[in-house]
Amino acid sequence: MTEHYTLRCRECNRDWGNRPSSICEDCLAPLDVKYDLDAARSTFTRENIARRPVNLWRYSELLPIPAGYKPEIPVGMTPLVSAARLGAQIGSRRLYIKNDAVNFPTLSFKDRVVAVALANAKAFGFQTVSCSSTGNLANAVAAQAARQGFDAWIFIPADLEPAKILGTQIFGARLVRIAGNYDQVNRLCSQIGERFQWGFVNINLRPYYAEGSKTVGYEIAEQLGWRLPDNIVVPMAGGSLITKIYKAFNELIALGIVESKTVRFFGAQATGCSPISSAVKRGADEIDPQKPSTIARSLAIGNPADGLYATRAIRSSGGWSEDVSDAEIVTSMELLATTEGIFGETAAGVTVGCAKSLIEQGRIRPDEETVLCVTGNGLKTTDALAGRYTVEDAIEPRLVAFEKYIGQAMAVSAVS
Ligand SMILES: *Cc1c(COP(=O)(O)O)cnc(C)c1O
Ligand SMILES: [Zn+2]
Repeated sequence: MTEHYTLRCRECNRDWGNRPSSICEDCLAPLDVKYDLDAARSTFTRENIARRPVNLWRYSELLPIPAGYKPEIPVGMTPLVSAARLGAQIGSRRLYIKNDAVNFPTLSFKDRVVAVALANAKAFGFQTVSCSSTGNLANAVAAQAARQGFDAWIFIPADLEPAKILGTQIFGARLVRIAGNYDQVNRLCSQIGERFQWGFVNINLRPYYAEGSKTVGYEIAEQLGWRLPDNIVVPMAGGSLITKIYKAFNELIALGIVESKTVRFFGAQATGCSPISSAVKRGADEIDPQKPSTIARSLAIGNPADGLYATRAIRSSGGWSEDVSDAEIVTSMELLATTEGIFGETAAGVTVGCAKSLIEQGRIRPDEETVLCVTGNGLKTTDALAGRYTVEDAIEPRLVAFEKYIGQAMAVSAVS
């Protein structure tokens, strides 16, 4: 069957058709999905899109979805909310949050990439789907595999947050803990992928998987009234999400759906795992792999597959990259929660903390329209907040008990 997309080498531009493979056999560079934009032009219009279901499948002309595929899971179209209270705290007058902490079904942006990868797993005839994961991808693969009748094998570093482990097991997936970091897990998975006929969403299905991230960009543009923001701040692990939002904005410009504009891309990492941000800061053209050590485990990829492409997108947009300490990650999670009522995970703390720092440095200016990508849910990373809040003794269910309690509480806050 001919599809409206094909795999193309990012370096030598050779076309490879559609197959479960992520690298060019000629030059070993990564493969990307290429569309016939002219063919998309007639149907990918603001009016048509507005009439479609309110989820990521509405952008199907620009997604690698096999002809005739019937989506079963309404992923995407998460809220874009204005964040005036957070903005007042960090020095931005036109701040927005794209809130993928409430993505369906597993509360992170990884639901998007898995939706698109599994559409292709089905087309390629895989019965078993798999992934190496820093946590959120494990949850997303396990849930969507259950819903679509795939068997799932999930490989994770042993030290993952308990909520992300449970949030994989509940869906009946086989979970394999590896005594090693993510980069070691990922290397093992490449070997397993060659031995077994499995669809690894982020390895042999990676070009398709990665396209799912573009929908964050399409949604932001549509939610702004088919307009692009001045700046966007994106947390980076493998560097795929930021690269793909960049691609999405450029496709919308090429199709004339939004006015042409240079959006500055700002990458965010934890200092304890910052191979991409340090390459940007050094002005280097290659990534020095690191051994991750940070509470932001969802971003703890020391050897990022798309790191180089991320630095290129950041640089050519006129943006920058920053990183923050674990302590700043925690206080930034709290700042987001107390100002906007959004409980983002550690990666959200990374994004908010880096945005604050970029504003302080004058790289993001107060009057510019700036979108922060919150990509995962804080209920999955509560261990990062261990010891931050005390739980007091219960009081009797009587008014006098509460009167005594509030009297003491007021006295304490008057003193402190
Ligand atoms: C995976 C992940 C990212 C970044 O993903 P890449 O595309 O690998 O850069 C960001 N935030 C969260 C919460 C994630 O799980
Ligand atoms: Zn090539």
